[in-house]
Amino acid sequence: MTKLYPWQDELWQRWVVLRDHMPQALLLKGAEGIGKLNFALNMAQSLLCGQPLNSTAACQTCSACHWFTQQSHPDFKLIQPAAMTVAEDEKEKEDDKKPARQITIEQIRSLTDFASLSSHQNGYRVVIIHPAEAMNNNAANALLKILEEPPKQTLIMLISHRPQRLLPTIRSRCLAFPMPLPSLEMAVGWLQQQKLATPMDFLVQTGFSPLLAMQLAENSQVHEQYHHFIREISQPEKVDVYALSDYLKNTEPVKMIHWLQQWCYDLIGCKLTGKARYFHEQTDLINKLTAKVDVHRILQYQSKLTIAKREALHPLNPKLLYESILLAYQQAMQSTT
Ligand SMILES: [Zn+2]
Repeated sequence: MTKLYPWQDELWQRWVVLRDHMPQALLLKGAEGIGKLNFALNMAQSLLCGQPLNSTAACQTCSACHWFTQQSHPDFKLIQPAAMTVAEDEKEKEDDKKPARQITIEQIRSLTDFASLSSHQNGYRVVIIHPAEAMNNNAANALLKILEEPPKQTLIMLISHRPQRLLPTIRSRCLAFPMPLPSLEMAVGWLQQQKLATPMDFLVQTGFSPLLAMQLAENSQVHEQYHHFIREISQPEKVDVYALSDYLKNTEPVKMIHWLQQWCYDLIGCKLTGKARYFHEQTDLINKLTAKVDVHRILQYQSKLTIAKREALHPLNPKLLYESILLAYQQAMQSTT
């Protein structure tokens, strides 16, 4: 969670006024990538804060604020599809074990228990459902029942990029809180502050949504790094370990290790079955590469990567980490004949 985006100041004033006549359910609606969830989290924290500044903004120092930022406030609940809360690794599990992309009826039903307990210090309870259109039919009907007899002292906030997909009966029970796209000037200014050189290019591609534009810019950079990295390691004997480590210095170490794990998975796969899973188009090249390599060495290297990944979340010196991982890779790939 970050503090409010600059284009949300006016919206915050609207929320301050609204607080005096607190509705039971709110529908925050607007385009994707304008910071609706972040705004809702700020609203929730300000409601739960024990000593809000100017009686509205969260103080960031009381125990309630501390619990909130640690995601452990007992009177707050964020409901999202399981797929949005699990780590990248989990998402790659085989088909039937994939985490749900929908919000389920069990998740909505858990609200009944949540709302029936007395709240901490007799304050508010806050629920955020994000994105609300991810509720499946059963979940939506369960929510409708709750909205028909809303629990006391509880604010339910629905966040939606596509409110027209919600049941009309749900929409009619929520007070609408529309969140417009920021002005172009605002969006460009913010992206420039984030050190993006060509904001307009990315804004145009993302329907002028600043957060999506930022994401796209970051992704295209990562995309480029990924291809460069794979090109380099596909020639193990030629790779300049130090230059490549330097090139990668702004890449997240976990990401780089993940690429190498996929690459090694295919080296082993090709060696044993002749088939690649991730680098299908490079099957011939991989077969050539692994022809004279001992598969046990790659297996050993792979277990090193697993350990390295665990330690790579907070490396003291990412460049040194890259160097040792790449040198070990070169060794593992040395011809045994
Ligand atoms: Zn506080």
